[in-house]
Amino acid sequence: MKDYLTREEETVVEDKKKNSEKNFLPSGGGDYLVIDGKLGNIGYKMARCCNPIFGDEVFGFVSVKEGIKIHRMSCPNAARLIENYPYRIQKVRWRESAASGKFQASLKIIVEDATVYSPVLTVINTFMVALRSSSLLPRSGRNTSDFEIRVQLLVSSNAQLDKILSALKKTRGVTSATRISE
Ligand SMILES: [Zn+2]
Repeated sequence: MKDYLTREEETVVEDKKKNSEKNFLPSGGGDYLVIDGKLGNIGYKMARCCNPIFGDEVFGFVSVKEGIKIHRMSCPNAARLIENYPYRIQKVRWRESAASGKFQASLKIIVEDATVYSPVLTVINTFMVALRSSSLLPRSGRNTSDFEIRVQLLVSSNAQLDKILSALKKTRGVTSATRISE
């Protein structure tokens, strides 16, 4: 059953590929699908495994049921997808103008103690971005008083995210601030 499904999937993808070539792969495969990152676009979706943000280096992966999934080049799945399904890879680039979309970004912030939680949220608030969720937990399995803050934000570009990260790194009590792939 699994084999049958896989074969059928391959056929559909090949058909789709032929059709799509008319639209954005006219010759030589050197052309790019241009994306603007608007959420809810019918033709493509941002992959949940790596949550691309406007400005990231990305590629498209042609899936049967969900159109084209956009992944970051640094996605944990990127190497496997590109190696195993080279014919499904679609070059993409972002539209030149600033994206009108909002992109989910997840951050991991290590702080010296729990009192740094509030200042961290204050710093994030100064950027006027939507905070979807936040949590504060002691770092597990470590003999330190460090805490780990996780936040999910909606940002407009990776440039904006970089500004937020550098502001967080300058905040007193913050040991590190990084973007994570979830
Ligand atoms: Zn991905």
